[in-house]
Amino acid sequence: MNQLSDRINNLSTSATLAMAAKARELRAEGKDIIGLSLGEPDFNTPDFVKEAAIKAVNDNYNSYTPVDGYVELKDAIITKFRRDNGLDYSRSQIVVSTGAKQSLFNIASVMLNDGDEVILPCPYWVSYADIVKLNGGVPVEVKTDISNDFKMTAEQLEAAITPKTKMLWYSSPCNPSGSVYSKEELRAIADVLQKHPNIYVASDEIYEHINFIGGHHSMAQFEDMYDRTITVNGVSKAFAMTGWRIGYIGAPEWIAKACNKMQGQVTSGANCIAQRAVISALEADPSCIKYMIDEFKERRKLILDLLDGIEGFKTNEPEGAFYVFPNVSAYFGKTIKGKTINNATDMSLFLLEEALVATVTGEAFGNPDCIRISYAASKEEITEAVKRIKEALS
Ligand code: PMP
Ligand code: GLU
Repeated sequence: MNQLSDRINNLSTSATLAMAAKARELRAEGKDIIGLSLGEPDFNTPDFVKEAAIKAVNDNYNSYTPVDGYVELKDAIITKFRRDNGLDYSRSQIVVSTGAKQSLFNIASVMLNDGDEVILPCPYWVSYADIVKLNGGVPVEVKTDISNDFKMTAEQLEAAITPKTKMLWYSSPCNPSGSVYSKEELRAIADVLQKHPNIYVASDEIYEHINFIGGHHSMAQFEDMYDRTITVNGVSKAFAMTGWRIGYIGAPEWIAKACNKMQGQVTSGANCIAQRAVISALEADPSCIKYMIDEFKERRKLILDLLDGIEGFKTNEPEGAFYVFPNVSAYFGKTIKGKTINNATDMSLFLLEEALVATVTGEAFGNPDCIRISYAASKEEITEAVKRIKEALS
């Protein structure tokens, strides 16, 4: 008998992690799976960061850290926010967490009461909706599509706001669409929010550095939004540190304090060695990771060129992150190799079984017409994967 709580029974499994697990399982059975499902850089963590971690071990960093992070790390984060984003935060406005995922969870838990609505421009990152629901909130999806580059307009936001709206959550560059909001687009959104002073924003900027058009803009840069915005960031993507699990926020002090209180009851703070290593990562000039960005840029071109050769895949040109999000609805209703593809989940499973390529259904990101393909893989893998997809579908 299922004795689990309604809370966990109602929670979806993370589709990105589930697909990665499935790919791992099939590989263990001897299948030659190409994994393009997980959003995880395939580079090594830079040597100077690894060395900082080794030094921290040898220097006997082994005790609990301050719940909201080492002061030295907070100072490095403050420097980073100033240097890269022109944002001024003080120590009491910074909270270091076990990945940006926990930062987002903290935000939901300290901001939402039961029934509070959170506007999520669609497609949104896979965990947003479930983190919101787990904390009593109600996700309100605002649909976008390829025609407006998967970006929510100010008019759409205005139309989605109700007296119950508490927050807006978005990522720019966006996972999964790769779209980057321009300063003007963010300003138009901020203008709408000015009419609704009780709405707060979580601006997820974890892909900030993986931006191919230059010009990353933060919502908190607008003076009239600074006091209502929580800027979320982390080192998983930019520094190839997914497993180190360090994320952080810059926020109004009362929100940071609440996140600190929350995390004091849940994790006691993030891992001490990882925190010491991240100090060196954030103090470094961002030019030290340029080789990764350059490589992602080349891979983006490669995968876009290759996908162009697949009939029925309609793809926007992502401006950041390392995903493409093709609309595959042209295949819906078709039967290939005895398998009927009725939606994006069917397509993703078809590609796993018939092309041995792992992708993620757009359904998990709130868009049932698309699939997400991560190009955080070698050029050889990307080339082979698209070749297999093309063959399986033809
Ligand atoms: N936000 C977005 C948009 C992401 O893609 C991810 C993926 N890792 C996260 C937050 C969470 O990152 P992490 O917990 O690894 O810092
Ligand atoms: N953010 C990555 C992704 O979207 C990692 C997986 C996860 O954290 O869910 O694939």
